[in-house]
Amino acid sequence: MNQLRSNIAEMAAYVPGFQPENVSAFIKLNTNENPYPPSPAVIQAIQQEAGDRLRQYPDAKGMAPRLEAARIYGFDPSWIIMANGSDEVLNNLIRCFAAEGEEVGYVHPSYSYYQTLVQIQGARVRTFQLSTNLKFEDSPENFRGKIFFLTNPHAPFGFSFSADFIENLAQTLSGILVIDEAYVDFAEENSLALVRRYENVVVTRTFSKSYSLAGMRIGLAIARPEIIQALDKVRDHYNLDRLAQAAATASLRDQDYFRACVEKIRATREWFSSQLRELGFSVIPSQSNFVFAVPQDRDGKRIHDRLYQQKILVRYFSDPLLKHGVRISIGTQAEMEKTVKALQDVG
Ligand SMILES: *Cc1c(COP(=O)(O)O)cnc(C)c1O
Repeated sequence: MNQLRSNIAEMAAYVPGFQPENVSAFIKLNTNENPYPPSPAVIQAIQQEAGDRLRQYPDAKGMAPRLEAARIYGFDPSWIIMANGSDEVLNNLIRCFAAEGEEVGYVHPSYSYYQTLVQIQGARVRTFQLSTNLKFEDSPENFRGKIFFLTNPHAPFGFSFSADFIENLAQTLSGILVIDEAYVDFAEENSLALVRRYENVVVTRTFSKSYSLAGMRIGLAIARPEIIQALDKVRDHYNLDRLAQAAATASLRDQDYFRACVEKIRATREWFSSQLRELGFSVIPSQSNFVFAVPQDRDGKRIHDRLYQQKILVRYFSDPLLKHGVRISIGTQAEMEKTVKALQDVG
């Protein structure tokens, strides 16, 4: 179709993680969703909102969740923006900062959606390869492009970059450093202090993993007010619907429930990692709600296929840097016990 912009015509569509039709037949450990339900307070808040009020537009500024996030993270509300999934804010950062033909960098492998977003914008991709020993072949420190996305904790390997490495990046990059903290609630450390210290740092968060709300599409970004104002210009003016605003606010308010779920997942992650090692897998120590595990024969596909036969879904990537292993999301303790049993049979 020759009316299409050439970048759209030529790009491949993003492929989300597989969602089987008969999902309840599977133990689903392939898209890093939370195995625990959202807080009961969230369900109640959504039910309360799901009435006559739906006739009316939602609050365009998403003020209720913004204020709640500001309180929890210790920032002025002018430093926070709510988003329709953190994917929306990643997209809008590119629209704000990278014009057609300008460079956007990120680590390969990491979140492959960055590539899709850069291609839609018509900007240029620059990747920095992380080899299997988790070292950079070519360090991003001297990158002069407009934005650099750092997924931290890293996905799909699960480790955290050192605080020194991240701070050094904030100092040396000329463009915006976006620290994608999708998994940081499962980690020991986060980079919020860098947002205060450096003008060019943006932290993004999602409610899809640690808050069990992947189905609601809620995320946020924390950055200085000049950046938030730019993002506010670019977003859909009603980017968060009424149900999402109610859910975001209620889930942020119920920090006790949130912490209890995160703690269970972290404990299960440590148990599961040690079981995998006993089975002969090499496992990268994880700061996330998933582990990257490599079997002795370095054949990730074989593990994926054998588990699939036993109705356990894990993520296999055919990328040359990833095909030797599988990424396994941390489910409930019972789900991971079944997975260990299945792996004992796989050998
Ligand atoms: C899941 C994920 C996202 C997307 O989050 P949503 O809020 O669901 O859009 C962004 N970045 C990384 C690294 C992720 O794993």
